Amino acid sequence: MEELINQAARILYNSKMTLALTGAGISVESGIPDFRSADGLWSRYDPAEYASIISFRQNPEKVWNMLREMDDLVANVEPNKAHIGLGELEKMGFLQYIITQNIDNLHQAGGSKNVIEYHGNSNTLSCLWCGKRYSAKEKRGEFTPRCECSKVLKPDVVFFGEAIPPEALNRSFQLAASAQALLIVGTSAVVSPANTIPSIAKNAGAKIIEVNKEKTHLTKTITDVFLMGGAGEIVSNLVDAVKKMAGGHNS
Ligand code: NAD
Ligand code: ZN
Repeated sequence: MEELINQAARILYNSKMTLALTGAGISVESGIPDFRSADGLWSRYDPAEYASIISFRQNPEKVWNMLREMDDLVANVEPNKAHIGLGELEKMGFLQYIITQNIDNLHQAGGSKNVIEYHGNSNTLSCLWCGKRYSAKEKRGEFTPRCECSKVLKPDVVFFGEAIPPEALNRSFQLAASAQALLIVGTSAVVSPANTIPSIAKNAGAKIIEVNKEKTHLTKTITDVFLMGGAGEIVSNLVDAVKKMAGGHNS
């Protein structure tokens, strides 16, 4: 494993344009379950049903049973070693942008500044009917938050069946096409169109590093260095190895 970590660190050290692509797996150690975890939120709420815009439009009160639990979770979590490690890489100049599929704000809390939120953010709620926007915090007391026009509000996260925010979509494709290295952490890379980013980067000549607890469909096809394990430990080992190469100290 140490040799693989060094190999990955060398890629980051030599790249002038490094992107990270993160998914639910990077936040699992903070206490937010991913879609595949055996227990937790998603064993009670099928994401295909509860995270779909059709379901929300048909029965927003029902979907809010899940959203309320998700919101309680997200309101009470802290960034873990993986978020903090990516924040450090950015500060040291070894990571230019993070494209995250997560909506939990943990990258920003972990010190990252250049974060592209591919699937939106749970900090705000919008009315699908009149367009008015509210802060999620101000609506936390209401079990089913409503707009002043009386309709049920929806968090500004991308549901299945909704479009990716155009700016995030375009910027991500642009960045992927000019990346020299792509660090993928904690995603099964099956949700479209985020799952096209790795192959765009690969075709542009980027080296692909993948961190995951288990192999994915990317591992055999496009990954150059696969680092198997928990995101917190692997990312912090990787950051330490990059620091050593950069001649810094390991504090
Ligand atoms: P996914 O659930 O499909 O896949 C998660 C991946 O992370 C899996 O490959 C799993 O093996 C890996 N993983 C789990 N724990 C890990 C750990 N400790 N260290 C390293 N890897 C670990 O998630 P996805 O690919 O992100 O796609 C699901 C969609 O749902 C995305 O849009 C995602 O952002 C969203 N979602 C977001 C959150 C959040 O904001 N935290 C939580 C659940 C789902
Ligand atoms: Zn309204």
